[in-house]
Amino acid sequence: MSEIKTQLVVLGAGPGGYSAAFRAADLGIETVIVDARETLGGVCLNVGCIPSKALLHVAKVIDDAKEMAHHGVVFGEPKIDIDKVREWKDSVVSQLTKGLSGMSKMRKVKHVQGYGKFTGSNTLEVDGKDGKTTIKFDNAIIAAGSEPVTLPFIPHDDERVIDSTGALEMKDIPEKMLVLGGGIIGLEMGTVYRSLGSQVDVVEFLDQLIPAADKDVIKIYQKYVKDKFNVMLETKVTAVDAKKDGLYVTFEGKQAPDKPVKYDKVLVAVGRRPNGSLVDAEKAGVKVTDRGFIEVDKQMRTNVSNIFAIGDLVGQPMLAHKAVHEGHVAAEVISGMKHFFDPKCIPSVAYTDPEIAWVGVTEKEAKEQGINYESATFPWAASGRAIASGRTEGMTKMIFEKDTHRVIGGAIVGINAGEMLGEIGLAIEMGADAEDVALTVHAHPTLNESIGLAAEMYEGSITDLP
Ligand code: FAD
Repeated sequence: MSEIKTQLVVLGAGPGGYSAAFRAADLGIETVIVDARETLGGVCLNVGCIPSKALLHVAKVIDDAKEMAHHGVVFGEPKIDIDKVREWKDSVVSQLTKGLSGMSKMRKVKHVQGYGKFTGSNTLEVDGKDGKTTIKFDNAIIAAGSEPVTLPFIPHDDERVIDSTGALEMKDIPEKMLVLGGGIIGLEMGTVYRSLGSQVDVVEFLDQLIPAADKDVIKIYQKYVKDKFNVMLETKVTAVDAKKDGLYVTFEGKQAPDKPVKYDKVLVAVGRRPNGSLVDAEKAGVKVTDRGFIEVDKQMRTNVSNIFAIGDLVGQPMLAHKAVHEGHVAAEVISGMKHFFDPKCIPSVAYTDPEIAWVGVTEKEAKEQGINYESATFPWAASGRAIASGRTEGMTKMIFEKDTHRVIGGAIVGINAGEMLGEIGLAIEMGADAEDVALTVHAHPTLNESIGLAAEMYEGSITDLP
């Protein structure tokens, strides 16, 4: 058994972990990062954000090429070479993970590969392919992330039942696929497989897809995709019977088919559970909730003063950019700075087609929290750029505090919504009001103009639309 002594150990090399490790090293702290994977980057780079976006890019090009037929340019039917698609996706991942490895070496952050568990409040044991290593540390940051939720009545051991990681492997393109769960991850992967040629059904237990977003926003998405996916809302799966010729799925609820439906693949995308209970944090004295979350204060410190936690395992939203910012705060606090993680808002984006993006309070949350609010929406049917792009289904919605007219939330559904959302996030963080946004000169013709125009509508300087 080998032994390493270090000022800081970071357990988990996802966006939270590597960001924390790099910031700590930049601040002069001797840092070791531990991950069970060979490559840095965690779920996000290896089997999450990045490979899914590489495949969504492929899907978008296919869909855009088809759409061109309406504008007088007809391409032939796409020929899919699944091996090449996979290679493209893998090359994107490898470019980024190699980049991280270089950045890590440059900063002299030591990478120990293996599965780490705490054995005390200053010791971690790592079980790697070259044997066991004991790491003695002054401070630790737990950044062990999350993993997909499994369901007891689903035969997860059947290779035709896949989770997001299985879906990203792109082994084949099933003829008929069921996406179980109408959240962001399920819909993104459904978008990819549909564009590549699968017939995709989506089943969601609640009465709308992406339940965290406002209904009016999601309605636009649902209307746009109604001919692309068969969406079954307020419906649940009660059994999956794995037979030789296919997976026979039984449904129950409002839109349930009356007999089992045969699928070639079932993608289970019903959420992710935190890995807090898998690292023996209790042996270090760190409290872990029944659900596997680790509680932290605004400096990302756990109940044990030299141990911090960040990312998916400290709570919702389980998003990479939240993990990154939390990682920076944890490293800075360890270096002696009095920093806090206290954002006014964290953006959420579904990179579907069209994209769905929201930030700050939703209308639903404003109502629940008793906030005196007003909202304004700008329909993209009145946007020159949306019309010129043949994509008028979108909408930009802004939520304002009624008394001060301050921007407190916003949502966009439409192409490039995720890229556009930053402006609303900045307005919220800066305490901008509707007038600030309305008087900001936006370039014409851009989709971003719709943010300025929604604010102008709220201020009453536009009273009618073309
Ligand atoms: P993770 O990225 O989960 O990394 C944790 C790491 O810890 C893993 O590498 C794991 O191997 C390691 N680990 C765990 N336990 C141990 C142990 N005991 N010993 C050693 N190593 C251990 N978020 C976005 O913001 N945008 C997106 O577009 C987006 N798309 C996604 C698409 C998919 C398909 C999925 C699955 C997720 C997506 N997410 C997205 C979520 C995002 O990936 C996570 O929020 C983010 O990765 C969380 O970062 P993290 O640092 O908490 O940990």
